[in-house]
Amino acid sequence: MKFIADRMLGKLAKELRKLGYDTVYYRSENAYSLIKLAREEGRVILTRSAKLTPKRPEDRIVRIMEDKPSLQLRELIQVKAIHLDEEALFSRCLTCNMVLHEIPRDEAEGKVPDFIFYQQKDFFRCPQCARIYWRGSHQDHMKKRIEELFDKPAASG
Ligand SMILES: [Zn+2]
Repeated sequence: MKFIADRMLGKLAKELRKLGYDTVYYRSENAYSLIKLAREEGRVILTRSAKLTPKRPEDRIVRIMEDKPSLQLRELIQVKAIHLDEEALFSRCLTCNMVLHEIPRDEAEGKVPDFIFYQQKDFFRCPQCARIYWRGSHQDHMKKRIEELFDKPAASG
């Protein structure tokens, strides 16, 4: 499942990238080209707008009702648009949506804080923005939060 999030859903786009989902953040207001891009790339449209409706059978649009990103994720879980894939967690750049590449440890030296370099074994780099990522306590914390989100039974419906 690949997504395209409308301009109201930038935070949700980042949350989906954390989960490993290929998610384009669409900043323009042009609904026509949003739908066109979604069709071309086979993406599910995530929108806050009630005006955006499917025009063709292949158009898949999920209208997001909640304001908070964590509740928006819950909405997607409830309609079974997303599931938890532990392997895919933190595999993408949160800014660029690119899949991260593992790099040799010595390439991270000097590019991350020293204490991180000495603590961590594995480093990953975004091929687009060159930002370096590592698995650390911040990711453990996020993972716990994500797992809780998926485990919680639906409040209603
Ligand atoms: Zn990047």
